[in-house]
Amino acid sequence: EQAFAALGSSNLGLSDAEAANRLERHGPNQLDLGKTTSWVTRLLRQFNNVLIFVLLASAAVTATLGLWLDTGVILAVVAVNGLLGFLQEGRAERAMQRIRELLSPTAKVVREGQAREVDARGLVAGDVVLLEAGDRVPADLIVLRAKNLEVDESLLTGESLPVDKAPSVLQPATALAERSNMGFAGTLATRGTGRGVIVATGIDTQIGQISKLLGGVEPLKTPLLTKLAAFGRALSVLILLLALSIAIFGVAVWNLEPATMLLVAVSIAVAAIPEGLPPVITITLAIGVQNMARYNAIVRRLPAVEALGEVNVICTDKTGTLTRNEMTVRGVELSDASLLVSGAGYAPEGSITHDTQTLDPAQCASLMGPMAECAVNCNDADLYRKDGVWAVTGDPTEGSLLTLGCKAGLEPSASRQSLPRLDLIPFESDQRFMATLHKRPDGKRVIFAKGAPETVIAMCRNERLSNGQLVTIDPDGWAAKAQEQAASGHRVLALAQAIPEPDLQELSVGDVRGKLDMLGLAAIADPPRLEAEGAVERCRQAGIEVKMITGDHAGTAASVASELGLDDATSVLAGTDIDALNGDAFDRAAAEVNVFARADPQHKLRLVTSLQKQGQVVAMTGDGVNDAPALKRADIGVAMGSKGTQAAKEAASMVLADDNFATIVRAVEEGRVIYDNIRKSIVFLLPTSVAEALVIAVAVVMGYELPMTPVQILWVNMITAVTLSVALAFEPAEADVMLRDPRRQQEPILSGLTIWRTLFVGTLMLLGVSAVFVLESGDSVAYARTVAVNMLVGFEAAYLLSTRRLRTGIFSAKGLRGNPAIPISIAVVMAFQMLFTYEPTLSGLFDSRPVMAGSWALIAAMAAGLLLIVEAEKYIRGLLDSRGSHIVLSAKRWRQTNG
Ligand code: ATP
Repeated sequence: EQAFAALGSSNLGLSDAEAANRLERHGPNQLDLGKTTSWVTRLLRQFNNVLIFVLLASAAVTATLGLWLDTGVILAVVAVNGLLGFLQEGRAERAMQRIRELLSPTAKVVREGQAREVDARGLVAGDVVLLEAGDRVPADLIVLRAKNLEVDESLLTGESLPVDKAPSVLQPATALAERSNMGFAGTLATRGTGRGVIVATGIDTQIGQISKLLGGVEPLKTPLLTKLAAFGRALSVLILLLALSIAIFGVAVWNLEPATMLLVAVSIAVAAIPEGLPPVITITLAIGVQNMARYNAIVRRLPAVEALGEVNVICTDKTGTLTRNEMTVRGVELSDASLLVSGAGYAPEGSITHDTQTLDPAQCASLMGPMAECAVNCNDADLYRKDGVWAVTGDPTEGSLLTLGCKAGLEPSASRQSLPRLDLIPFESDQRFMATLHKRPDGKRVIFAKGAPETVIAMCRNERLSNGQLVTIDPDGWAAKAQEQAASGHRVLALAQAIPEPDLQELSVGDVRGKLDMLGLAAIADPPRLEAEGAVERCRQAGIEVKMITGDHAGTAASVASELGLDDATSVLAGTDIDALNGDAFDRAAAEVNVFARADPQHKLRLVTSLQKQGQVVAMTGDGVNDAPALKRADIGVAMGSKGTQAAKEAASMVLADDNFATIVRAVEEGRVIYDNIRKSIVFLLPTSVAEALVIAVAVVMGYELPMTPVQILWVNMITAVTLSVALAFEPAEADVMLRDPRRQQEPILSGLTIWRTLFVGTLMLLGVSAVFVLESGDSVAYARTVAVNMLVGFEAAYLLSTRRLRTGIFSAKGLRGNPAIPISIAVVMAFQMLFTYEPTLSGLFDSRPVMAGSWALIAAMAAGLLLIVEAEKYIRGLLDSRGSHIVLSAKRWRQTNG
């Protein structure tokens, strides 16, 4: 009471106006995470890269030689690259930041006497908030009420075990870790439920005082980027060795000037380094992650993006993910009557019929009065009406029971007021029931319980007949009724009550076990999501297995699974069956069975572990606090955005804003596209780098004039690296992304195809550029070089077109359109080449000459020729591949027919 008085609040919470007023005065409940890294650090970090060091060393060499122009151009390359990397990384990081904001936590708050879910940033001191297992405590609060409430405060106190929280009065000097009557912002409720009043928000909270403890933004690093960094280091050593040996060769064999050769070595190094790769990959990841966020898949950890392309098993929940989680009670089974319930959604409109006769409120009350009371009171949900549509706050299953209560003629708030709740045993998914203790107006007590039929039936002693009489329960009869309802796809809940001693104040499991009277079963429809069936089919085509792991009844699970086309494997395995299996038997079941029912979070963990042991890459969904270990363990932990707990979201690497299974499948597709595009960038950049380096190296070795000067090479490199390859980041999905099998885990960066293309295309470009150089060298070397430079850029533009598809041809309506970034980048590069060739200042810098129409025609023809050759190579490779698989197929068939 004193706290409420000091905070100007009450058990009914604040009024909306007062809350808005306080929010205005004190600011939002959020921590200013501060500048994570300053822009200077981020800019400097761009230059902390071996390849850049090689470039800087090159600039030092040219400066020592007094070649200021070359030094200037190299430094310009370094600066432009660094700046570009900086801008793109900034863009990527901002995108990630926005995405993180989508995940801003919500809190359940009581305002104007009503519970509702709000953005936790809108909380103010005096707000009354509700906590349950899995929630992050949204602000510092005094505990008003608690039931088995345990909170993990390790973030704040370092104490690794959860601590109990309960209302009490403590000395002001009590140490933080011992303030058992308070909950602190940022800590995690791991068990039970509670209610508290906020005393401090935002920066005034304990965690706000030490906000530096909060981890900063996660770096943009993925296994692929790490592999690439290692690849870059190895590559730079190789490039340096190559460059130096060529230089030494020139001096030793052709007696060329050491200074010139040093410069040649520098240009080879600069040419061979694929500077564009790191920024292109970062931007590809960022664009992909943004795309995913647009359709509700929010990536929390970037490595997940890569893993998505490798996923070959998706383990998914049923309720809300495959189904709509819009529950409606369709039928009620009493001991001696079956009732049908009409109406749609949560609207409390509809009727209850018995033997085709519609029941009036009085008949309802006599037949199922106690059941309706139980449905409404053993219930934490609330119904409300928004824009004419009825919706529910809290658990949809409970929402449907409230609607049932209304249809049976009960007014939920009136009933709840006349039966004040004294205590409860909250629902936990491994217990599968909940119970509440109430006081009747005459002072007597009543206990209501509801839960999974097996659990509740096992706790019952009697059952209630429609006339109110109690008889000994027939467990098998009830189990058969439950089984029948489940088999038609209904989620079935059993409702029961008990009359305890008249002065009972606290509820324990002992008060319900063996003491309940069965009231009836509610059969709840939860239709599958429209898009789920298609998504399951897409998975099948994409070589991905889908497994349903649900806490629901085996019958319900089997029925939904067959509706979704999921049950083609062996039959349904229930939690108890899983417990009986171990070792190899369990591994086999994990691989073969597709539907797991009455499964606990521990079963999820065992499944993931077993599947991973068998070499599968597993995505696993979850929502509860107990799902966190399985989510962490899975290659991709997927948490539910709307019904998931904060604990699950934090353990997951991806969050589904719409809880929808189909969204996972779209994310997998996007993951595959991203990886494809990264591969395309690699397949584009490596051959062009190799060609640039070879053009110089071969000229030196053969003792010819250089077809391009070092500064010209630098120019080409800057243009191609930066302008052309970025376009590939915008490449849309290829038609067959979801028709091929998942990418193998541990696939090397340099696949056979990449190495082959690098050598093949690199050689073609080398030959082409050398040929043009020789053909055009009649007038002057400077003219021939200008043509050679334009030729190389022309080749790269043509090759860019081809790289849009790695294996299939691009000469189709689809192959040529679909990515506006490609023509734009090619146009930009052409404009650059015009400046390079004709603009006086640049001509002076690069020693270029105006190119004549005939030479342009030659360039265009040669570039087109390269495109045709690479396309022909794809075509032949395709033929060989299909011929190869044809042979394999024939061999298989032959073996089958001939034993
Ligand atoms: P999934 O894992 O597919 O999301 P689920 O949501 O059905 O499945 P749980 O929420 O763990 O899994 O529920 C398990 C069982 O517990 C349900 O089948 C139901 O019988 C019972 N149950 C669910 N919600 C409640 C509740 N609010 N009160 C009492 N019993 C419940």
